[in-house]
Amino acid sequence: MTAALELKQVTASYGHGSVLHDVDLEVVSGKVTALLGANGAGKTTALRAICGMIRTSGDVRLFGEKITGKSPEAIVRMGLAHVPDGRGTFAGLTVMENLRLGAFTAKRSDFRRTLDQVFGYFPRLKERMNQQAGTLSGGEQQMLALGRALMATPRLILLDEPSIGLAPVIVKQLFGILEDIARNEGVSMLLVEQNSNLALKLAENAALLEVGHVVARGSARELAENKEIARAYLGHD
Ligand code: ATP
Repeated sequence: MTAALELKQVTASYGHGSVLHDVDLEVVSGKVTALLGANGAGKTTALRAICGMIRTSGDVRLFGEKITGKSPEAIVRMGLAHVPDGRGTFAGLTVMENLRLGAFTAKRSDFRRTLDQVFGYFPRLKERMNQQAGTLSGGEQQMLALGRALMATPRLILLDEPSIGLAPVIVKQLFGILEDIARNEGVSMLLVEQNSNLALKLAENAALLEVGHVVARGSARELAENKEIARAYLGHD
């Protein structure tokens, strides 16, 4: 089966030295892969490299098609959505306006159906559709960021630390919804998370980055059960 996402020997930099070195990574179609690592390991940079935001060499393929060197907009049109850290919603626009912007690459005829689907997952967004995004709670803003990504009817979503700054009960709710989206819609996900326990519960597979190198990969269970890795990187005893 074609992988949803495949990175081969990907190197990326911000202009000075490389931040990612020869990274190989795969997201199986319809599954969640967690990308773990300490602060500064290069997780956010990996997501930026995939969506065409920074200078990248090597081979990045989305459902078998090469996307290295393509513009971020072209990559979005090919079915990739990015939920960046800091969420990236437009604070001065309403919930509905943010969702409309998310749909700009999608087919017009899909709009109603996708909107109903997003409101199904996030009834709170429906209740607050006319509220300015900047006045939403942290949890609601994360839901809006995810809702906006879904409006593009993506096949693969890149998620950058969705749990950050949220209360545990909201995180639990959000991860339940991510699981439903992956299972019900067959959307593939690459999940960058500080909360590795949580990420390894949701994900099928995982990779561990250390200063820009992938130092371990395997099933989420294998990584969670590897005591050495757990102690060194995952904050387990
Ligand atoms: P965190 O968990 O702290 O967000 P991360 O694993 O996502 O860390 P990155 O944000 O990808 O790590 O950063 C990797 C390295 O790239 C760091 O050394 C960082 O200083 C550097 N870096 C990140 N963004 C830029 C930038 N815009 N310009 C130059 N260097 C950057």
